Amino acid sequence: MSEEKDVRTNCRFCGYQCGLTATVEAGRVKGVKPDPTQYPGDESIQRGCRRWRLATEFLDHPERVNYPLKRVGERGSGQWQRITWEQALDEIAEKLKTLKEGYGPEMLATCIGGPHAVYWPLHRFMNLFGSPNNMGIGQICWNPGVWVNTLTYGWMIENELNSDQTACALLWGVNPAESDNSLLWREILKFRQQGKPLIVVDPRRTRTAEQATLWLPVRPGTDAVLALGLLHVIITEQLYNFEFVKTWCHGFEDVAKHVVSYSPSYVADITGIKAELIVEAARLYAKNSPATLFSGRGIDQLGCNSFPTHRALAILRAICGNLDVSGASHLTEMPDFIPELDLELSEQFPPDARQKQLGELRLQSYQGYERVRQLTMKHGRRLPMRYLTSAQPNLVWQAMLTGKPYPIRSLIVMATNPLLTQADTHLIYEALKTLDLLVVLELFQTPTSMLADYVLPIAGALERPLFETKAGTANIAYGGQQAVKPYYERRTDFDFWREIGLRLGQEKEWPWENLKDSLEATLAPTGFTWDEFCQSGLYCLPEEYQKHERIDLQTGHPTGFATSSGKVELHSELLAELRCDPLPIPKTLSPQNKDFPLELITGARFQPYYASSFRQFETLRTVHPEPWAEISATTAHRLELADGCPVWVETKRGRARFIVKIVQMCDNVVSVEYGWWYPEMEATEPCLGGVWIANANILTNADFECSDPLVGTSTYNGLPCRVVQA
Ligand code: SF4
Repeated sequence: MSEEKDVRTNCRFCGYQCGLTATVEAGRVKGVKPDPTQYPGDESIQRGCRRWRLATEFLDHPERVNYPLKRVGERGSGQWQRITWEQALDEIAEKLKTLKEGYGPEMLATCIGGPHAVYWPLHRFMNLFGSPNNMGIGQICWNPGVWVNTLTYGWMIENELNSDQTACALLWGVNPAESDNSLLWREILKFRQQGKPLIVVDPRRTRTAEQATLWLPVRPGTDAVLALGLLHVIITEQLYNFEFVKTWCHGFEDVAKHVVSYSPSYVADITGIKAELIVEAARLYAKNSPATLFSGRGIDQLGCNSFPTHRALAILRAICGNLDVSGASHLTEMPDFIPELDLELSEQFPPDARQKQLGELRLQSYQGYERVRQLTMKHGRRLPMRYLTSAQPNLVWQAMLTGKPYPIRSLIVMATNPLLTQADTHLIYEALKTLDLLVVLELFQTPTSMLADYVLPIAGALERPLFETKAGTANIAYGGQQAVKPYYERRTDFDFWREIGLRLGQEKEWPWENLKDSLEATLAPTGFTWDEFCQSGLYCLPEEYQKHERIDLQTGHPTGFATSSGKVELHSELLAELRCDPLPIPKTLSPQNKDFPLELITGARFQPYYASSFRQFETLRTVHPEPWAEISATTAHRLELADGCPVWVETKRGRARFIVKIVQMCDNVVSVEYGWWYPEMEATEPCLGGVWIANANILTNADFECSDPLVGTSTYNGLPCRVVQA
């Protein structure tokens, strides 16, 4: 009889990786408890989280995918045959080879999303295979901010909220009380206990907004106007940091002229926020230094207004002197370990394959990437490439359907569920049905995997080593060892990509036999072994600030910023060169009309779920059984809707059913929950796990023509809609 032992491991049921101690016996996890000695080192995060408690149930949940499955009936008929990994890998590799010969390597697309997989092996495979067509969620999550900060400041930043140092916090379109940023949420609570000013900009009075000193319920999609309004007040009242602006900012006069027309009364008319609140918020932010400014997915998902909003916020942070200052933000450093860019082998991706990228986006493209890289290399820094050059999803779905500009015939989906997580479910459904090969690597069957040719079981939390690196853009890594070998026949996604690569002539490029060996090699430049790293589960160095003032030993001058001017580019020379607005100019919203008189927000997250995951768990469903459509009391009264009544929310694209919840929020706005499906329903066509019932993305669209021309961001917020009783 084998003995029980405790293993230090990690949860991975959201973007965090909280430390856990797993009690293991005979290769099975008997129980878990929080381990606050590991990153992020705060037990209160886990006290407030329900998901880690499901770890043992998660490992053995009856609906987990445990063996490779091959479709044997009609697509979507739910008829599966259990096969071996060898058969699955051989057949998939053979099919990819045939399709590549017929259509070229670009006929293969991939789709990624959640945190329960590691992505560089996929990108490495795709680079070697020759296809640029990866679809992520980058255009609506992370990428707009990365592009804006890099072209404004010369590199990425991390915002800081340190309750000891930060004097004021501005949270814009971010709701850490419900999303996964738990460490930030804990720090906000401490910060507020000290009575420090917190400004929250959000159309909804979220749990985060309830903590605010000042809540600005901005009309969806008008955030850029509001940010320019704050700049107007700060510049007019001369509340900015004169010294930093004079020495380190380029184009201040242009910004000052640009914001003249954004007076508080003008901005109030557009955003729905009272003029005096706009003035108060601007003064609070500018007069309390250091002030931090976090923006979130609410801004990333604003379509054409995402980029101008991020730009206006980047300017706001800079002119108030909150850049690379302790308690506000810091420019990150390249990692000491091997960055994702090198693991991906992106630099080897040939020019002719790069030209096949779908869309002509000015930044989110190989040309855009190379242009920005010329600047960041002034400081020896390189951004990850594949994620920032991923294809605009709408063009990939269209190429599946129409064969234009070239056919996409196969798709490998990993750790995501595009029928729920990507815009325009009807379009995606039709596109998936046209494919010659659809492979899904997942933990559970999902509506997307129900349509697959092969469903492959991947190892989840506790069954795999974890190593999170912020995509190689910062010198921080956290993670730890697996608690047990994968149950049943699950494997890591690394194994899948390596095995497919070996079958398709990539032998020389996969020197590591497994994920752990690759992590050992990744860490090697730091001088740590994998086991040494796992003792603390964290690699990072103390932050340094005001790095632009470091003296360059070659020139004898301060290092400055890695931009065209060497300064913070309030007026962006790079955007001017790309024939884009060098200053943030808000775009006009789609007008409401008599058929669709309300505005829709579709990205809302709610605990205890994470995106479209965890609907299989009875205990969580009991806590939150139904998806909500939130509206204000005034709007509900006008529409004669009562709290708890079922409604259809309708847009031009379709309709989905939610339960009315009356909350404090902007009038004439509806906010629906994201990611809802019903795993208990039939896993076959036409039901597909209830994908057509309460799925917010039935209501959205990501038409390329309407997306942002720089990054390809689609609009998920501020869409015209209506609500009718169901
Ligand atoms: S679900 Fe996320 S916040 Fe909760 S314990 Fe796991 S990693 Fe931490």
